[in-house]
Amino acid sequence: MNGFGAPERKTRNAQGSFAVERLAIFGGKPVIPRGRVTPWPAAEKKHLDALRGVVDSGKYHRVNHPIVSDLEQNLARWTGKWQVRAVGSGTAAIHIELDYVKERGEQVVTAALNWPGAVGPITINGLQPVFVDVDMSVAGIDQRAAAERFNPDVAAVLITHLFGNNVLVPDGRHAARAQGIAVIDDICQSIAAAKAIVGGSHLDADALALSGNGAKHLGAGELGFVITEDADLIAHVDRVSLSSSSRSGARIFSPLSQGYNYRPNVFSSSIAKLRVTEMDAQLEIRRDNSNLLWEMISDLAGILPLFDPSDCDHSMLNFPLRIEPEALGFAPGPAARDFVVKSLQAEGVPICVWLTKPVFEYLPEIRNNWNAADFPNTMKILHTMFYVSEIAPPNGSELMHLYADAFHKVWSALHKQGPEIAAGAISG
Ligand SMILES: *Cc1c(COP(=O)(O)O)cnc(C)c1O
Repeated sequence: MNGFGAPERKTRNAQGSFAVERLAIFGGKPVIPRGRVTPWPAAEKKHLDALRGVVDSGKYHRVNHPIVSDLEQNLARWTGKWQVRAVGSGTAAIHIELDYVKERGEQVVTAALNWPGAVGPITINGLQPVFVDVDMSVAGIDQRAAAERFNPDVAAVLITHLFGNNVLVPDGRHAARAQGIAVIDDICQSIAAAKAIVGGSHLDADALALSGNGAKHLGAGELGFVITEDADLIAHVDRVSLSSSSRSGARIFSPLSQGYNYRPNVFSSSIAKLRVTEMDAQLEIRRDNSNLLWEMISDLAGILPLFDPSDCDHSMLNFPLRIEPEALGFAPGPAARDFVVKSLQAEGVPICVWLTKPVFEYLPEIRNNWNAADFPNTMKILHTMFYVSEIAPPNGSELMHLYADAFHKVWSALHKQGPEIAAGAISG
């Protein structure tokens, strides 16, 4: 299918003949100069001004601080549907949402390709996770496998959206609804999943959980949001997380508090409030950048996006890709990915390997109940994926061209030398 891409990048050597440019990993000159990439959360002076505003207010942690209330309202308006409550973190939001539905059963169905912070709250709530594999076509929970696990003892299905992906899975949602199972979406990495992304409608969910931590779209330090239409769930947030103050400002010691004290940080809220006003522009640049980058590298052999970046509803927290080792002459397994990642990093491309194991292996309490071999799609993604991390503003199309140049340089060396090249990189 794909070729090895652009003509080899060649430079004239001392003898006047052409040689393939030496990869930076072997001592060549990196494509991307140091300092050229602006890493997220891309601090700006106006963030400092926002923080100063909190200091001047003299109140650093009030849930009813006007900055927090404004943020909740602005974010709610931006979603076009939901009510929003700010809490301490994305993990706290998931904890509270599962806590709210835990009377419905003892199990929570979720994907093995997942984030420990998403799955931890299941056991924190005394519930049992039930893992299913992912569907390669959506890089998210396999809705058919999930529905097979539904039974009267399932309290919720937790649908994790990774890397800025939208995991629509309408049949899985429908099946859960029909059986009284709560649908909870972890959109910590996919803020736009709170908008009308399903052909003009919003996700069919009981609750969404969003993170505002420094690495996510709101890039705000430590912050999270419970997002829902259910007024009782909103009330539940206050019930479990406020022990000594109420939203009205009265100092009330709640007899019902579970003492979580998951209050939003007002400093983080002040930055998040700024970012909400610019969210559409931020998302557009992330989408444009990933689209452009994919256009420039899609002709390379053995590389695929995890989900289609030209679908302009995705949030593109980063741009995840995966390698097909066989198409590059490698054996199956992580060796091809690991070589490509090291080579691109040496060229100055901000590339990361994500987790390398299914989520249960990071959670000691449940690790022994599950076996990686039972989740072949999850393992395939974990062995072959990586992501390009800095695609947010102020980074733009010029930088994407440099990223693409680096990909072409690495692929052309791979084409020339084949998989043996990787052995040199390990010793070198
Ligand atoms: C970041 C993240 C969380 C947790 O959010 P925090 O605000 O860091 O607690 C949960 N799930 C996913 C998928 C995340 O990316």
